[in-house]
Amino acid sequence: MITTHPFHLPETPETEDDDHLREECAIFGIYGTQDAAAHTALGLHALQHRGQEASGIVAFDGKRFNAHRGLGHVSEIFVSPNVMARLEGHAAIGHNRYATTGETLLRNVQPLFADFEFGGLAIGHNGNLTNALKLRRQLVKRGCLFQSTTDTEVIIHLIATSQGATVLDRLIDALRQVEGAYSLVALTGHGLIGVRDPNGVRPLVLGKLGDAHILASETCAFDIIGAEFVRDIEPGEIVVLNGDGVTSHRPFPPGRKRFCVFEYIYFARPDSNVEGQSVYEARKNIGMELARESHVDADVIVPVPDSGVPAAIGYAAESGLPFELGIIRNHYVGRTFIQPTDQIRHYDVKRKHNANRMQIEGKRVVLVDDSIVRGTTSKKIVEMVRNAGATEVHMRIASPPTTNACFYGVDTPQKEKLLAHNYDIEGMAKVIGVDSLAFISIDGLYRAMGLPARNDAMPQYCDACFTGDYPISLTDFDDGGDPAQLSLLTEQPAA
Ligand code: SF4
Repeated sequence: MITTHPFHLPETPETEDDDHLREECAIFGIYGTQDAAAHTALGLHALQHRGQEASGIVAFDGKRFNAHRGLGHVSEIFVSPNVMARLEGHAAIGHNRYATTGETLLRNVQPLFADFEFGGLAIGHNGNLTNALKLRRQLVKRGCLFQSTTDTEVIIHLIATSQGATVLDRLIDALRQVEGAYSLVALTGHGLIGVRDPNGVRPLVLGKLGDAHILASETCAFDIIGAEFVRDIEPGEIVVLNGDGVTSHRPFPPGRKRFCVFEYIYFARPDSNVEGQSVYEARKNIGMELARESHVDADVIVPVPDSGVPAAIGYAAESGLPFELGIIRNHYVGRTFIQPTDQIRHYDVKRKHNANRMQIEGKRVVLVDDSIVRGTTSKKIVEMVRNAGATEVHMRIASPPTTNACFYGVDTPQKEKLLAHNYDIEGMAKVIGVDSLAFISIDGLYRAMGLPARNDAMPQYCDACFTGDYPISLTDFDDGGDPAQLSLLTEQPAA
């Protein structure tokens, strides 16, 4: 049974007050409890920051698959007791999605589901396949009919066309053909399957709640349901969760782990623990390293909330300067708020941020933020802080300059729109109107993560948006000859 939520969002505006790279997806799966769908809804709620435009849950009750998908927030889609009652089952998977361009189409909302000769299979994906377009064209030539425009559906068709003897064999066969970043949860009549790509770019963690086993993008999804963290799924590992417990498979040749370092800088929730490190502690350490690298005489350290807060705490601790909430964030800004007209556009940033004048007036302020993408927000915040009476404004950024796009499941503007692609640091400082600007160095970032420096021959993380060193080949290109993510193409190219 498949039901859909009637709520429709208008096209997501590219709001200037939300100038961040955006993680596209979150996944969750649970096996071995009669409340599987309710636990999944709670888990997805905790993971809402990884995708806010659409969500879906598919549950299995031993006989049939029950699904519900919708556009909007988890709390809007899974609010009805009738909906939750229909999602019966001892196992379930769920997915949050961020719509990357244009209208969020319900047919693109995951988990995707397909009926095979071996039974049903639902799948949810966090990441992006870098050869999805190429594979899609090949599959269409072989007669495959695609229902969605997601790269994830390529995996479904590769499973369908595989000659493998079991579901697991077919999934492995399919994954041997794909390139890119993927953490997956897949639900079959025989159990729940979790997969992490051989480079482990996106996170996937294993947890336990009584006799039930759980997979999730981040540990904050365990906390909300009272589950305990067991371990990270290893790069290239496949786990099968069923009545026999958890079994681990290693069908791929070992790859070099290249976990996305931006998960620590911005994507993951600060109360999550990923790859053995507290995200909050990592951000504080980055702030401390940033203070060591780029000291400036000032009176107060002010975070750009919320994402700049942990790094600013670290910066203040290391510099010995007071930390103050000199900017207050309004948490009640709806994503579907009216698009400002040109006349009121300069008020746009104030919908989300306001200067706390008493903490700023007459002071030399150091603003700490996690990153600069287009620079649009930074410019307006600096202006706001100056208007509140700051005598000097210095900006410190807890990541190196973002000079390159991401093709591994993160929505990034085209390279040409990235401020750091177009200007050197002095030029950027002029554009955003600060007295001084500094970013943490790439080696400083690695030091903050507990490593001596970046190993240029074998980098320990994916840091391609800062260095251009892409760990997984980029196979798909758009019509202009630039690398592209299938999910980001506004027009689906003809097969
Ligand atoms: S390119 Fe940047 S955002 Fe993308 S996976 Fe690598 S580090 Fe993360």
